[in-house]
Parts: sequence; structure tokens; C-alpha cells
Amino acid sequence: MNYELFMRAALAEAHAAVASGDVGDGAVAVMDEAMVARGRDSTRTQGDPTAHAVLSVIREASHRLGRGSLAGISLFCVVEPCVMCVGALMSADVDAIVYALSDPREGACGGHRRIIGQGVPGSRVRVVSGILSEDAAELRPELSREVMPGAS
Ligand SMILES: [Zn+2]
Repeated sequence: MNYELFMRAALAEAHAAVASGDVGDGAVAVMDEAMVARGRDSTRTQGDPTAHAVLSVIREASHRLGRGSLAGISLFCVVEPCVMCVGALMSADVDAIVYALSDPREGACGGHRRIIGQGVPGSRVRVVSGILSEDAAELRPELSREVMPGAS
């Protein structure tokens, strides 16, 4: 799996989101080394707090594949997904979640809001973080500066 290639596609979506006035996050769904869906945050332009990049890609990928299960999919996103998005990814039965930047405040793969990943019972989804994190930090400098709550 070429992590950097697909993360660059997610970063391109995030830059497009920022250009249209939305929050800088983008995502792509990958199966068998091929991109099957791409999407970006549109919470501000749609006035919809659930219009996160990850949910948009889940819908698009399910539509394209014509099935409700996303088994076999690796989901790439720029920012560590939130509780809502991780819940949807678990329901969709994805194989892996790959992200660039940790989000200590809202992220659900690490930190105190963690509901998936290493050390969480019953969690079979593979989580990979830190891919192209320096490129992503230019897009979301507020996250790169944040320190994990409780860390010293
Ligand atoms: Zn989310």
C-alpha cells in the first residue's frame, strides 16, 4: 500500500475544502490499491455539523460499490477521525484507518476519546497515523501545536 500517494490525494481534498471556506480535512477510500471515493469537509458551506470528510467518503464509497459494508477498504484522512466518524467506520467494517495528524481534542483513535485502535478491546481495525504529518501540519497548524491532554 502506497500510503503517501493516497494521503496526498486526501491532502488535495483538504486544500480544496479550505479554498471553499470549509474546515481543512479531506479523505479517500482505497481498495486493492485503487481509489474508490474521495471527499472533503463541507460543514460550513452546507451548514451541517455532520458533513465531515470521512462520512462523505463512506457514503460515496458505499454508493460506488453498491453495498453497505466497506470490508476491504482502507480509509485515508488528513485529521484523526472524530467519535462520530469512527463509529461510522466501525459500522461500515473498514479494514484500516490511516491519518496524518492527531487531534488530541476530537480524535477517537488516540487520547481520552479513543474508541478504536491499540489497547481497545474488540478493535480489529488497523490504525496507522503520522503519514505526511509535516505536510498536513502546514494545513492545520493549530493541531500540530496542540499537546495531548494530560501529557507532560
Ligand atoms: Zn468526524
